[in-house]
Amino acid sequence: MELKNRIKNKVDEKDLTSNCPFPKKNLLIEVTNHCNNKCLFCYNDCMKRKKQFINEKIVTKALTEAYELGMREVGFYVVGEPLLDKRLKDFIKEAKTIGYEYVYITTNGILANLETVKELYKNGLDSIKYSINASNAKDYQMIHKTNSFDLVMKNLKSVYQWKKRYKRKMKVYVSYISTDKTKNEKEIKELFTGNCDEYVVMPAINQGGLIPNMEEISTKKEEDLNGHFKLPCPYPFKSVIVTVEGYLTACCMDFENLLAYANFNETSLKEAWNNETIRKFRKNQLEGKVENTICHNCIYNDNNSPRPLDKNLCSLEDFDHLFCKDVRI
Ligand code: SF4
Repeated sequence: MELKNRIKNKVDEKDLTSNCPFPKKNLLIEVTNHCNNKCLFCYNDCMKRKKQFINEKIVTKALTEAYELGMREVGFYVVGEPLLDKRLKDFIKEAKTIGYEYVYITTNGILANLETVKELYKNGLDSIKYSINASNAKDYQMIHKTNSFDLVMKNLKSVYQWKKRYKRKMKVYVSYISTDKTKNEKEIKELFTGNCDEYVVMPAINQGGLIPNMEEISTKKEEDLNGHFKLPCPYPFKSVIVTVEGYLTACCMDFENLLAYANFNETSLKEAWNNETIRKFRKNQLEGKVENTICHNCIYNDNNSPRPLDKNLCSLEDFDHLFCKDVRI
């Protein structure tokens, strides 16, 4: 499937119910929430959640239980850089051994050199997506806050050339988050054409409502940004997201576990997937009632103080000072 189709945020009408069927795709496991970049449009650097690496028992539990329920695809990343976790190749191998048909990662590419990617491929990786959000070294420094542009491009090119030369099945993708200062389409096209299987350009968005002033740098018009996610949002209905703490959350942009709905360390996926908390949240989504959740800020680009779905799963004490990021370039 093409990358463009893969990242389309859609869900079947029939699956939009509070008690919804377990999906076949979209299992995401946050192996770590550490990151070695500080991208301007990303909330990771402001995140108050403890930075850590996942307990491998939770990875095994998630992979096994999700597969038994019909899941066939898994991505090993959520809000951190997965290649910071040296066990990544083992997790990939475990997923393939269990029977997963499609195993993928997204990386900023700093550590995704040819030697490392060959090892991941050997263990079963089906696709790697490089997140490269600038088309030259100067802009890269401004956006990523590191001077790794040349290194990342070298990694991308060497991996793609190797894949083509040896006819490896693994897909090599690029995603590009654009801002008003880095939207040079011609330069982007020249940079990535011939260096990956496919690239997609997407506008910077407000990160689950946690960076309300994103509209100041986004390439989307204000009205588009406000409506970027419409109710009901597909994520709570189609994604199974396991956080680094071993919680289940409804959204891959839930940096502070404000939409966490189950402690997967203490329950099964079968029980948790349609538990009372998430059913109520989905019902509210279907009825357009998202006040007091991050979804309200995400959809309406507002800056109300959100409250967690389950306060036992969110370590925040101060909900009034979440919006620490100022994204002016
Ligand atoms: S914050 Fe809510 S509305 Fe926004 S993407 Fe996440 S689940 Fe969807």
